[in-house]
Amino acid sequence: MKKFKAIINNKEIETKTYLDIMDPATGEVYAQVSALVAEEIDEAFKAAKAAQKKWEALGVEKRIEFLIKWKELLLANEQDLATTMMHEIAKSYNDCLTEVRRTAEYIYLTISEYKDMDVLTYNKDSKGITEDIIAKYKRIAKGVGVAISPFNYPINLSVSKLAPGLLTGNTFVYKPATQGSVVGIKIIQLAVKAGIPAGVLNVVTGRGRDIGDVIVTNPLINFISFTGSVQVGKRLMQISSSKDLVLELGGKDAAILLDDHNLEHIAKDIVAGAYSYSGQRCTAIKRVITKNAIADKIVGLIKNEVIKLSVGLPIDNPVITPMIDIKSADFVMDLINDATSKGAKVLHGGTRKQNLLEPTLLDYVTVDMNVAWEEPFGPVLPIIRIEEIDEMIRVANKSNFGLQTSIYSKDVDLAYKIAEQLEVGTVNINRRTQRGPDVLPFLGVKDSGFGVQGIKETILSTTRYRGIIIKK
Ligand code: NAD
Repeated sequence: MKKFKAIINNKEIETKTYLDIMDPATGEVYAQVSALVAEEIDEAFKAAKAAQKKWEALGVEKRIEFLIKWKELLLANEQDLATTMMHEIAKSYNDCLTEVRRTAEYIYLTISEYKDMDVLTYNKDSKGITEDIIAKYKRIAKGVGVAISPFNYPINLSVSKLAPGLLTGNTFVYKPATQGSVVGIKIIQLAVKAGIPAGVLNVVTGRGRDIGDVIVTNPLINFISFTGSVQVGKRLMQISSSKDLVLELGGKDAAILLDDHNLEHIAKDIVAGAYSYSGQRCTAIKRVITKNAIADKIVGLIKNEVIKLSVGLPIDNPVITPMIDIKSADFVMDLINDATSKGAKVLHGGTRKQNLLEPTLLDYVTVDMNVAWEEPFGPVLPIIRIEEIDEMIRVANKSNFGLQTSIYSKDVDLAYKIAEQLEVGTVNINRRTQRGPDVLPFLGVKDSGFGVQGIKETILSTTRYRGIIIKK
């Protein structure tokens, strides 16, 4: 069995205990990773702290040199990284490959965006200043960051935290999700190969529930960037030693359908938004709220698309692959069973083979059903039929989540007016909910988190201003 070791101070750590990493598609152990204990995690923080000032003093040009080499190595190893990811998280091989390439592009965009960021300068000619001063505000590193990523985009949601923070001179303790740890270790091995100085980027592995509290309560932390579930995000808010947090949590994104314009295209867009990677995406469409008058038409078209979805093993590149584990599949089945027991109709799917679920379409979902509110993180789409627009908005906003919404309508002015009333980070008009393009700010409100990601915003959130004012 191949063992992958955590890396602290650019050295592989020898541990007594290893954690099994399963292949969700076969149910067999795929590899093992180090299961670190508290003392080793403490070492990682000490290493990050010791390396930070030197890394910052090295200068941005050297840090850019490193990032370019890292990006090139990610691309040079794209097939290995994609294959590893496919085994660890059962995402289709093609989607894994796309993720590696998108991540390389993210690094490239981060570098170009940073170069455009200005130092703020004020003097006595500036509005509101009468004193004879020169004031300069430059963005500098916050210090030691913690990056914690979820299983579903193990490379992209790790590097999109690390690359901007490293560029701006921070050092990191990075904790990948358990399923995603092998590829997490591999990207750090490549960072070492790209010449990152010891201590700058440390990867710690182990079960979140065993080592999570130890990580987030370390006193050396200056900031934390977390992507994952609401449950863990809320715990982190309560106990973390840093109050400087970016939390990107779950979602219950709605697609709101107002009229019968372009319905064939809309059905395709909704099905792609809801089911790709088996719905295991924070921005997956997780409920359709349709006007009653067009419901029969659109539901029929959506069903035609759902029936066509390919189901199978990740190597064959289907849309629906096995879910991350049996427990998650059980959760989705419970939601389906709760809904059908209360009167929802299964139009397709509703069955499983272990953690491989048929894509499931549920019609006549009502607000007393759990599937109307819970994030399934699996291949199930509930249809909620509503008569009036005001009620559609009320139901959309009643969710505890607030990540994104889609509104489909030929009347863009009306859609815009509705968009202004929705309690979410971003509204997409005539476009499915999604993260990206990566230069756009990405954010959630309510239980979907706080703080903003996106290239520029991550650069901002890993830095603070240092102002120096000179009296003439
Ligand atoms: P999770 O919360 O189970 O795990 C996320 C990370 O937290 C993992 O690295 C895990 O090991 C770690 N962790 C677990 N317990 C911890 C603790 N007590 N302290 C600190 N860290 C701990 O989430 P997941 O199942 O990996 O990912 C799915 C969730 O992530 C979904 O809710 C999804 O919507 C959300 N997500 C959100 C976004 C976004 O940008 N908003 C993107 C992707 C996924």
